Amino acid sequence: MTSLHNRHINPLILANLDGQNWHLADYVKRGGYEALKRILNEKITPEQVIAELKTSSLRGRGGAGFPTGLKWSFMPRQFPGQKYLVCNTDEGEPGTFKDRDIIRYNPHALIEGMAIGAYAMGITVGYNYIHGEIWADYDRFEEAIDEARAAGMLGDRILGTDFSFQLHAFHGYGAYICGEETALLESLEGKKGQPRFKPPFPASFGLYGKPTTINNTETFAAVPFVLNMGGEKYAALGKPNNGGTKIFSMSGDVAKPGNYEVPLGTPFATLLELAGGMRDGKKIKAVIPGGSSMPVLTGDVMMATDMDYDSIAKAGSMLGSGAVIVMDETRCMVKSLLRLSYFYFEESCGQCTPCREGTGWLYRMVHRIEHGQGRADDLDMLNSIADNIQGRTICALGDAAAMPVRAFIKNFRDEFEYHIEHKHCLVPAYV
Ligand code: SF4
Repeated sequence: MTSLHNRHINPLILANLDGQNWHLADYVKRGGYEALKRILNEKITPEQVIAELKTSSLRGRGGAGFPTGLKWSFMPRQFPGQKYLVCNTDEGEPGTFKDRDIIRYNPHALIEGMAIGAYAMGITVGYNYIHGEIWADYDRFEEAIDEARAAGMLGDRILGTDFSFQLHAFHGYGAYICGEETALLESLEGKKGQPRFKPPFPASFGLYGKPTTINNTETFAAVPFVLNMGGEKYAALGKPNNGGTKIFSMSGDVAKPGNYEVPLGTPFATLLELAGGMRDGKKIKAVIPGGSSMPVLTGDVMMATDMDYDSIAKAGSMLGSGAVIVMDETRCMVKSLLRLSYFYFEESCGQCTPCREGTGWLYRMVHRIEHGQGRADDLDMLNSIADNIQGRTICALGDAAAMPVRAFIKNFRDEFEYHIEHKHCLVPAYV
């Protein structure tokens, strides 16, 4: 089992883990389940829990960055029927691999966070939808649920109070689109995992048509820390409007790829240093800062940017899920875009025409540029196709396919033009 030492600055979720101490007894030694116990024993009200989350400025860690406290306040408290809580552990985007580490190394932080969420929103049933290609980690999460249930932290009358919460693990099917929240709900209901039209949103019409709150794994896992340290102190770890710590999945041409938990607002240069710097001392060329669907930025821009939602947005991209793909000077930008375009083409669920047809069109055009058959007007055509996909589809996969195309062409146009004109790559390693 991999050690997690020396990879973080002020870590919370990934602190003090050695790969073996994930069990309930170890979690309790680290102060685990204290937040849940205090809430129930001291009769802290659901409204107080939500207020603390709002103060913490904890934002959704799955990609959208929506304020968690605000999302939880949307759940109708007096709804007469069943309501559901769902955790999205269906990470499948290229570059994203943090949630599997949470359920592998610290599954009880997630369970405690979900139990607190259930209490705050008056929910009695929850599911964790785990990506279908993760087997050992799924089994571990099941084991952790059993431990929590046996210790009275889950199930009926938790810790002898009136609060009950049944939590179940659900093994998905490995499709990227099932990470889209409404496709996930369809899949959880046993149907084909295809996104729903919105509105209605899951807060009013979710699992089995009932009010449902869905959060990412890292978001739930952060909740016990917010409650233990208090919203203000948690917020102060990061920057205004960007509270707390964030796990960044560092991949690509770095010396030590892996997950790194640092305060939001940490300079990218510091994060890169934590990851051992550029592999073989090469120069940085490009970075996708938030998962493959986010716009690529040049290395120079990234080296002057902080890792938080607002700073990355100002630089022209999005923090997304915090999957940082680093590319060095030997990477061909046309080939990189080709790989990403193929991914979205393959993963489109096919429901809407702009995405179903457009992703294939994008892929085929980038493919011909890469293979020396590009035409003079191809770049304008690519931008035009991307424009006609973005914002015209049922779910965000269409945008996810279009945004990288526009950003790669905008920031590395010279490489694309060189490919088209000379029929081969500008980068020496690929000539
Ligand atoms: Fe399916 Fe693509 Fe439409 Fe999303 S945008 S619903 S993935 S076809």
